[in-house]
Amino acid sequence: MEILEGIAVSPGVALGGALVIDNEGFLIPRSFVLRGAAEDEVQRFDRAIVAASQEILRTQNSMTEQLGEKVGAIFAAHLQILQDPRLRHEVEAAIREHGYSAEYAVTVTLGGYAKLFQQSANPVLAERAHDILDLERGLLRHLTGRPQDELGQLSSAVVLLAHNLTPGETAKLKPEFVLGFVTELGGVGGHTAIVARGLGIPAVVGIGRFLTRVTGREQVIVDGNRGLVILDPDEDTSARYRREVQHQKAAAAELEPLWNLPAETRDGVRILLTANIEFPKEAGACLRLGADGIGLYRTEFLYTSRREQPSEEDHFQAYAEVARAMQGRPVVIRTLDLGADKMGLAQADPEDEPNPFLGLRSIRLSLRHPDVFVPQLRAVLRASALGDVRVMFPLITTLPELRLAKEVLAQSMTDLENRGVSFRREIPVGMMVESPAAAILIDRFVKEVSFISIGTNDLVQYTLAVDRSNPCVANLFQTADPAVLRLIAASLRAAQQAGVKASLCGQMSGHAVYTMLLLGMGLRELSVPPNAIPEIKRVCRSVTVAECEAVAARALTLDSASEVETFLREEYQKLCF
Ligand code: PEP
Ligand code: MG
Repeated sequence: MEILEGIAVSPGVALGGALVIDNEGFLIPRSFVLRGAAEDEVQRFDRAIVAASQEILRTQNSMTEQLGEKVGAIFAAHLQILQDPRLRHEVEAAIREHGYSAEYAVTVTLGGYAKLFQQSANPVLAERAHDILDLERGLLRHLTGRPQDELGQLSSAVVLLAHNLTPGETAKLKPEFVLGFVTELGGVGGHTAIVARGLGIPAVVGIGRFLTRVTGREQVIVDGNRGLVILDPDEDTSARYRREVQHQKAAAAELEPLWNLPAETRDGVRILLTANIEFPKEAGACLRLGADGIGLYRTEFLYTSRREQPSEEDHFQAYAEVARAMQGRPVVIRTLDLGADKMGLAQADPEDEPNPFLGLRSIRLSLRHPDVFVPQLRAVLRASALGDVRVMFPLITTLPELRLAKEVLAQSMTDLENRGVSFRREIPVGMMVESPAAAILIDRFVKEVSFISIGTNDLVQYTLAVDRSNPCVANLFQTADPAVLRLIAASLRAAQQAGVKASLCGQMSGHAVYTMLLLGMGLRELSVPPNAIPEIKRVCRSVTVAECEAVAARALTLDSASEVETFLREEYQKLCF
């Protein structure tokens, strides 16, 4: 048995036989065509462009239908690159001027672009290389007459192991046959990860080199919750994971009757259970699962689907869709949290970021680029006329930063008024508490916002000085560390004293083992990933506030994250589900 650690990008657990896919290593020899044959070769290339474009269009349509416009638009962007006249001109020039074969001209030209992107220290630009390679492969398939890759034609269930999967390849995966996938490359913010989550396929990426040690006959466990991959698991481990899969299925079925019931404690305290979403299309599922609203709409994913910046109208269309779908329930739209692990503003900020999590990220980036920030704020304001829309600023660290963001919002209101556009002037304005600075000075911050939402993913990272996406220190990323708990408790106390609503939208809120602790610390709103709603609801409905307060009081006296975790797990098990 071999256990590999990577980055969990799509939750869930899968067990199955390995299918190793080569990376379609098209070895294109440096070949030339006769002088008089160049025009035929150009025509062959033109036909390949047409065929590859049709293929992408089909993928775009099916992705739009399955996952919505934003994911479909990833492929619209591919189409745009493929049909870019400059690219076409470069390939044709390589055929005509150097006498290259169409295959070789495509490899040299697109491969060259991909390499340029790959070499970028900016992770966002580096990710774009996968999109270019996707296009190169598509064109080569049509030129060489190789059949469409088999990924879309699998007929038995497997776990895919690959060096890398491009977004296009991921989109072709059929969840009924691909139980999970593992790649050597990849990061948490790439398009591939987003498509995998959308399709609901458990995935772990960024494992590093391991395929050379794999024969393809292994049984594999993909643990997309913990970022683990287990090759040839021993009987105990297999049995444990099989139980986990069974348990997940049975638990999901058992929870269905709760979908339409409120998250209310046994002693009648109503907990607001809202959802975290990335795409507007998810709003429907949130409603079905009984969400009380959207507690975190991560808008940076609007950027994953296009090469240009989204316009005010693009933002508005997305927000309007969510506001309408939620039928008057609260929708917290978080302004862009670009940078670091998220898609960056590639065009606006080409400079390298040596330390991106401490760099030009999130609200800092928005404030530096009013041309990006203002259209988003106007769109949020316009959407506020359609429902209970609220606006939230991410990664606030100083009061002047918060005030500046609010000033830009006020200016955007004036702009809209001058344009005669309707919006809700009293739109609630909140901030995320995800930097230690914000948590330490929280008593001052709460005087200037209508609500706070605690972002434990970043709060843990910055409090414990542990990079949240670095697999080497994943074991040190301890949500239940006493220092983190103390910052959460202080933030909740300050919010309560100021009469300001508080929520928690980091991953912590979606893990049922923490629910009693959080309710006991005074939290009355939790924003969780949609699929966690039923389970968290069940915990809320099984406890009293007094029981939770006792758990929290004890947990806050413990000395280490592992002690807290052990204690909370015991308490959770006592609920006897
Ligand atoms: C967080 O940091 O906890 C959070 C919810 O924001 P994100 O994960 O998008 O950084
Ligand atoms: Mg965050």
